[in-house]
Amino acid sequence: MQYYATPLAVLIDELKKLPGIGPKSAQRLAFHLLKVSSEEAGKLAQAIKNVKETIRFCRICFNITDKDICDYCRDPKRDDAIICVVEESRDIVAIEKTREFRGRYHVLQGAISPLEGIGPDDIKIKELLERLSEGKTKEVVVATNPNVEGEATAMYIARLVKPLSIKVTRIASGLPVGGDLEYADEVTLGRALEGRREI
Ligand SMILES: [Zn+2]
Repeated sequence: MQYYATPLAVLIDELKKLPGIGPKSAQRLAFHLLKVSSEEAGKLAQAIKNVKETIRFCRICFNITDKDICDYCRDPKRDDAIICVVEESRDIVAIEKTREFRGRYHVLQGAISPLEGIGPDDIKIKELLERLSEGKTKEVVVATNPNVEGEATAMYIARLVKPLSIKVTRIASGLPVGGDLEYADEVTLGRALEGRREI
């Protein structure tokens, strides 16, 4: 039997699909949304719709953007000679907060993970090599996560990029092993960037 009127049950079901939201939280959120004004609820619905309609990936670095080319790729003050390679767009935010990096970025949109069936062709490595073939890059800083997948990805990239006579560096250890870049504090991540080593 269904406990709630169908529209409410549907809302609870949709909310349950969100990460970190169990049945109890979904119910709580649904009842909260019932109580707020139509205008408030409409703003949330519209925000979700806008994100889905306007957000896309930068044509150059594959960062999340609402433009054809993202702000980092457009900024004329950034150094073309150095590209920082990260797994996800949110890692750019973590690195920006350190204020230690003024180069360009490249978002792989994942990491190599044989266990999950993710190979080099499933992430934006080919696209990185295409960028490097333009000849402007002197150094590639690999800032993938300090876990097994991140290390494997860094090694794979180093093997492909080194023959192009481009320096490949890896952010220094000292980051919590097995963790995600985005959880590292700014000081630690800033030091890791500064202490990067050639691989
Ligand atoms: Zn970009």
